[in-house]
Formats: sequence, structure tokens, C-alpha cells
Amino acid sequence: MSDQYTFDDPRTRFPRISPPVQQQPEPGLQSRMTPKPDLGEESYRGTGRLTGRKALVTGADSGIGAAVAIAFAREGADVTLAYLPEEQEDADHVIGLIEAEGRTAVAVPGDLRDATSCRALVQAAVDGMGGLDAVVNVAGKQVWQPRLEDLDDEQFEATYRTNVFAAFWIIKAALPHLPPGSTIVNTASLEAYQPAPDRIDYASTKGAVNNLSKGIAQQLVERGIRVNVVAPGPTWTALQVSRGVDPETLPDFGASESPMGRAAQPVEQAPAYVFLTSAESSFVVGATLNVNGGMPTP
Ligand code: NAD
Ligand code: MG
Repeated sequence: MSDQYTFDDPRTRFPRISPPVQQQPEPGLQSRMTPKPDLGEESYRGTGRLTGRKALVTGADSGIGAAVAIAFAREGADVTLAYLPEEQEDADHVIGLIEAEGRTAVAVPGDLRDATSCRALVQAAVDGMGGLDAVVNVAGKQVWQPRLEDLDDEQFEATYRTNVFAAFWIIKAALPHLPPGSTIVNTASLEAYQPAPDRIDYASTKGAVNNLSKGIAQQLVERGIRVNVVAPGPTWTALQVSRGVDPETLPDFGASESPMGRAAQPVEQAPAYVFLTSAESSFVVGATLNVNGGMPTP
């Protein structure tokens, strides 16, 4: 059985997919996607890189967050999973895989657009795992809208609440619990540098995530807490089929955009989060690790 350490050609490690046009209401269930994203269920092999760690992962029911949650459990961490209540079916799949590793899974459904929910989430993580030393903000909202006049104020605000405010609220609430050695990893995007014209709210939040993270990183390094960022490129997830992009473009998803000639699978994002959370990245602070198949970034 091959795993993430198998030496092979990255262009063909995962198939070049051409997903059929499909659409779900937000937030989208991964279990109803064609084809199903690869979270590393069969292939991610842990080697003890996060032994004994206690991690909070948002958006952990599906896509990149789910791949991170599974990888963290296989590396020896307990995981608190945040997701929306309507995503319970996807979350159950991930919880089962975490528990199969003999690790604790703490499930906390809730809406991160609300500050009170974010604070309650952090408390539930601390109570459920007996502490907290890793925060991974992966949850995100992306809704395509080609015309500025049609981008309503509610969407603009909800995108900022989900992608920026929630990270701020969660980090602030987590701080009193985080011992030196703790890590925070936030999720930006290629869109932080190359905003798609039909995703201006989303793309600008990702620029904010990068900037916010680099600022906070400088404050928290004095407490022995490291903050870093992962900036994914096109990755096959539920976000894309729940109004994230123009559904007519799905058959070409990631293929012409990325020099790799294909979209990433969520499992390919997970090692970046593992590296930035593990003590092996002890001197990496305020960095953005771009995982985008070769698209140039500043
Ligand atoms: P996904 O839909 O599988 O995951 C996003 C998750 O965000 C959802 O599962 C949901 O649990 C969570 N979420 C959204 N709104 C929420 C809310 N109000 N309250 C609580 N949780 C909420 O899609 P994904 O692609 O894995 O997205 C994960 C992150 O990766 C996002 O931040 C996204 O912006 C980023 N990203 C994705 C891509 C890509 O191509 N898929 C590229 C760059 C960045
Ligand atoms: Mg989901």
C-alpha cells in the first residue's frame, strides 16, 4: 500500500479528475460529491510527529480540515472537531477514523460566525481533551458572485465573519490555555495573491488571514507560541460544489489553472499542517506554506 512517503511522479500520484457539473446548498456534504475527495483514509501514515498533542481543528468534517484531523490523529494527537450541525454525517466519518487510532475525538457542532460560539468551542476543546496546544483554523466560506452589484452585504459580512473574525475570536479565547510550544495554523489561499474576479469577498479575506497571522505571530513568539499559515491551491472539496465556483467550470477544476495539470486532493494539504504544528518546525514563525501545484506566489 502506498502512502505519502512513496516516491512517485506528483503529476500522476492522484488522478486528473473532471468532475461532473453538480451543485449542493451550502455548506455541502462531501458524502454526496462525485468523485469523493481523498482524505487519506487509506493512505496517510503517521509516524508519531504529534504524539500527545491536543488539537482544535475547525472545518474538520470535510475536505482539507478533515484530512488534517485524520492525519493529526494518526500522528498521535487528540482532536476537537468544529463544523456546522448540518454536516454531522461527514463529521461522523472523520470521528470514526480518529477513534480507530485510539485517539480522543471531541465533536463540537456550531456556527463560527458568532463570537459566543467560538468561545464555547474553545472551552469545549479544553474540557474534552484536558487542555489545548494546537489550534488549526481551516473552516471557510466561499461563494462565487460575478457582479459586485449582486454581492449582497450579508454575504460580504458572513464571509468575513467565517474566514477572519472566527480565527481572531478562537485564537483570543485559546490564548490563556496555550502553553509554550503551542502552535496556531491558519488557512489562506492562492486567492490571497491572485484574487478571482468572481470571489472578491473570499479572496480579500484570505489576504487578511495572511496579514493577521504574520502580525499575531510576532506577538506570540515572545510567549513560545508559533503562528503560521497554509495557503492551498485548487483542491477538490465540498466548498467547490456548494456555490464556491461557477458549477459549469467544475469539469476543468484545477486542470488548466495549476502547472501540475490537476487539482490537489485534501490529503495532499495535510502534511503542511502537520509540519507547522509539529515541534520539528520550531524556527518557522509567521510563514505561509503554499501548497498549490506550482502557481507563483510573492
Ligand atoms: P470544505 O467545504 O470541505 O470545508 C470548509 C468547512 O468550513 C466546512 O466543512 C464547514 O465545516 C466549515 N464552515 C463554513 N462555514 C462555517 C460556519 N459558519 N461555522 C462553522 N464552520 C463553518 O472545503 P475546503 O476546501 O476543505 O475548505 C477548507 C479551507 O481551505 C477553507 O478555509 C478554504 O477557504 C481553504 N481553501 C480551499 C481551497 C480549495 O481549493 N478547496 C483553496 C484554497 C483555500
Ligand atoms: Mg463540510
